[in-house]
Amino acid sequence: MILSYAEAYIGGEFRPCTGELRMPVVCPATEQQIGEVRACSAQQVDSAVQHAAAGFAEWSKSSLEERRGVLLRLRGELAARADEAAVLLAEEMGCPVWLGKLMQVPMPLKGLDLAIEALGQLEWEERIGNGLVERVPAGVVVAITPWNFPLHQIVAKVAPALAAGCAVVLKPSEVAPGAARLFMQAVHAAGIPAGVVNAVWGGPEVGEQLVRHPLVNRISFTGSTPVGRKIMMAAAEDLKPVTLELGGKSAAVLLDDADLDAAIPSVVRLSLANSGQACVSQSRLIVPQHLQAEVVERWRAAVAQWPIGNPLDESTRLGPVATRAQYVRVQAMIEKAGQQGAVMVESQAGAAHAVPGQGFYVAPVAFTGVQPHMEIAQEEVFGPALAILGYETQEEAQQLANATKYGLSGAVWSADTSRALDFARQLKTGQVVINGAAQNLATPFGGWGWSGFGRENGRFGIEDLLNYRALHGAP
Ligand code: NAD
Repeated sequence: MILSYAEAYIGGEFRPCTGELRMPVVCPATEQQIGEVRACSAQQVDSAVQHAAAGFAEWSKSSLEERRGVLLRLRGELAARADEAAVLLAEEMGCPVWLGKLMQVPMPLKGLDLAIEALGQLEWEERIGNGLVERVPAGVVVAITPWNFPLHQIVAKVAPALAAGCAVVLKPSEVAPGAARLFMQAVHAAGIPAGVVNAVWGGPEVGEQLVRHPLVNRISFTGSTPVGRKIMMAAAEDLKPVTLELGGKSAAVLLDDADLDAAIPSVVRLSLANSGQACVSQSRLIVPQHLQAEVVERWRAAVAQWPIGNPLDESTRLGPVATRAQYVRVQAMIEKAGQQGAVMVESQAGAAHAVPGQGFYVAPVAFTGVQPHMEIAQEEVFGPALAILGYETQEEAQQLANATKYGLSGAVWSADTSRALDFARQLKTGQVVINGAAQNLATPFGGWGWSGFGRENGRFGIEDLLNYRALHGAP
């Protein structure tokens, strides 16, 4: 029996999808089909937007108390489904249940907490002289999300939309649909008013129809840079504002006094988690030239602590990559790095396949001898491949760190925190982690350059979905 994803959520009801397109859901650990997504018809997509427009008319008038109540109930319903979510993520996109329970599910719960907190932090009205400045909900938001942190990315868009007083039409990824269905079940159980949150199934065509729909006011997209560019061009026709959370090529920089005992395991964690399929993945490591050999040995030792295997096994740290297309792409990039002259360092980690000989498993690799122009130094791999670049001077380290078009995240390590902070301030990127600090989800999340623009998380995510209205002479 395969899982059937054939019901959209429109106007507060689950409705059978009537589109022609059917998309298989394949377990990356076994390569077996375990589910099928049926797309919505164009008529259903239109109906979802119409319901969202009607939902917005009411929800935009809701009080902050009502919004708080809805967000709290949604949090409760999601928390009740946490274990189910972790298993679905393991089966559908290969994320180890360990990581599912540690990050994939707690992050959206935290996201809801922060949206609730932010309701009380925002200045919804502000007086400036004779002017009253209001912050009003932007309208119907289309949320298009990817598969790599599927539940988190949905919540990172829907929670601020609910808090802002917007209505949503969600188009989740067709690759890992379980998280989205579970989310809609939670929305339904939470009693969110009909039409305020809607979800449709489909691939790129459904996404495009939503972006171009005249009743849609705002687009919030997380995904690849090429698709983000297409969405921005389509949205430009009707001058719809877009938030784009795109790819990354983030660098971890070790200054010459960095604590390698702490730094290397942290870089390995942030480059391997989710098999490197994280937009903030630290996929470049920039190290003093004289420390390169030592760093490579430490990398090997740290990677050995990451057993590869069946994502449903609690002891697995590294699962397969999510799809065959991902596997082919990652392998091609690894091969090309070698062809361009980078030197591959293999890890000792061997895959304990869920089914022998099957699965999209990629053993972690690092590259030395990487030059800044090489593909492995420039393009997002979205897999467990690390580019190590050596430097002689701190100025060179800074130039290397900034030598990509992306700017999503980064890290700097130094025994002297103020030196690390000075260095961090030179980086052209949306966030920098200093000496392995925890990522604070209340701060604005988003990119520079090819990593996109607009912000998510906490009050910044809500502000992103508000318009200003200035009332001159308001009493
Ligand atoms: P993708 O761009 O292929 O797809 C993302 C979503 O867009 C899917 O729902 C897809 O169906 C939809 N889509 C595809 N073509 C479309 C079109 N023409 N119009 C409208 N919608 C369309 O990305 P993916 O492979 O699902 O995810 C991986 C990418 O996402 C990586 O590049 C990663 O860096 C990026 N990502 C970014 C962030 C961030 O916050 N910056 C977070 C996670 C992932």
